[in-house]
Amino acid sequence: MLENVMEFYRNIPPKQCASCGDKMEEQAEAYGTVCDNCKTNG
Ligand SMILES: [Zn+2]
Repeated sequence: MLENVMEFYRNIPPKQCASCGDKMEEQAEAYGTVCDNCKTNG
């Protein structure tokens, strides 16, 4: 199972909103895992 996790992190996609699934450029580390839209709404 550990190998699976490592594989996952090696293929980790770009940042993605955990709420709506929108792609995020590079930011929001301070905001968590949601895009600007969800951050504003939530
Ligand atoms: Zn979002």
